[in-house]
Amino acid sequence: MKVFKFGGASVKDADGVRNLAEIVRTQGQDVLVVVSAMGKTTNALEDLVRAYVNQQANNVHTGLATIKAYHKQVISDLALTGEFSPVYETFAQLESYLSQKPNGSYDEIYDQIVSLGEVLSTQIIAAYLQQRAITAQWLDARQLVCTDTTFREGRVDWEETSLRINQNVPETGVKITQGFVGQTQANRTTTLGRDGSDYSAAIFAYCLNADSVTIWKDVPGVLNADPRWFDETILLDKLTYQDAIELAYYGATVIHPKTIKPLQNKGIPLYVRSFLKPDAPGTVIGNFEQHLSTPSFIFKVNQVLISLRPNDFSFIAEDNLSRIFGRFAQAGVKINLMQNTAISFSVVVDNNPDRVPALLTLLKQDFRVSYNDSLELITIRYYDQGTIDRVLVNKRLLLEQKSRYTVQLVVKDLG
Ligand code: ADP
Ligand code: ASP
Ligand code: MG
Repeated sequence: MKVFKFGGASVKDADGVRNLAEIVRTQGQDVLVVVSAMGKTTNALEDLVRAYVNQQANNVHTGLATIKAYHKQVISDLALTGEFSPVYETFAQLESYLSQKPNGSYDEIYDQIVSLGEVLSTQIIAAYLQQRAITAQWLDARQLVCTDTTFREGRVDWEETSLRINQNVPETGVKITQGFVGQTQANRTTTLGRDGSDYSAAIFAYCLNADSVTIWKDVPGVLNADPRWFDETILLDKLTYQDAIELAYYGATVIHPKTIKPLQNKGIPLYVRSFLKPDAPGTVIGNFEQHLSTPSFIFKVNQVLISLRPNDFSFIAEDNLSRIFGRFAQAGVKINLMQNTAISFSVVVDNNPDRVPALLTLLKQDFRVSYNDSLELITIRYYDQGTIDRVLVNKRLLLEQKSRYTVQLVVKDLG
């Protein structure tokens, strides 16, 4: 069996759904198709959650109307005449949920609402496949992917998930299911973290011992840099699992970082291909001898460099480090880079306005805190001095960290 994954951009409108159907018809016989919410639906649902929790009736009303109108437009553009009533049942379910008073933590409510984006997209796509006479079985991923109760970042219970998947996913034919979603033992819906549908594809593939996973993207494959930031990118036709993990971990957003490890453990190849050019080979990630020969670049903007010095003049040793990491975990801030000297500790993080101010307040209890924002973090894998010099043109270097294969540069743009 193969696993295909289609992201939001690939199914943002009726043409996208038609294109998916064509790829499945021509390339997917015994395939499990994992799909994200259509277009920017997840963002729209996030706004709806905020309005609902704050009980802003007008915003709830318009948010819901916009989401419904968008999906109805796709249904109408696809001229769906067959069995698409499940979509209307999902609308009704959402409406009924929103008509009650909010109950539970923000994150739990978030998962009950935001997960429905994937439910809607797969219901529409399943109905369209049926209309095209492609027999496809719709599967509810919430009942297959079992997680703990960490809402918005559910941790997978691999044993239970594997059991459920193997009991319920047929070997042959086309199956369609949702990315991003799961369920606790007590049947509460969870999600796996933003952009988690790539990871869902890997979960299914791992449990099914799939022959391969293909994630269909709006780029020709994995490039040596994000084409949104760099003009002259190079397609990497082959990548080792290790290189792919490192690139994703440092922020190459083309693959969700959690996707690769389960596939590596079972030696399942991961193809990254273009849904716009479905005949092109793209990138294959697998067990190869040779690592990359071209330098790859990862670029993160809106970074903040935070430097800490203990108020009591102590050294940055185990006790201080554990206190620092505890504060970061408490504030829910992920560290992109860290470096220390005897008396100071520096970290670089995304400047998230919802989290960083609270983190700074926490840190100020024990440390003298200084920070520098509007920075960029550039990571180069397989660097050489010439490459570093080129990316530093017109930038002021604030911090540099080198390991054997990777260099990270924290810079201020002077342009
Ligand atoms: P999906 O809709 O499947 O979730 P994403 O938008 O998450 O797709 O991923 C595709 C995007 O990843 C591309 O449009 C591209 O801008 C970005 N990207 C970042 N780094 C790279 C890279 N190294 N190679 C290719 N694309 C990259
Ligand atoms: N729909 C979810 C998101 O936008 C999951 C995904 O697309 O991978 O984050
Ligand atoms: Mg993504």
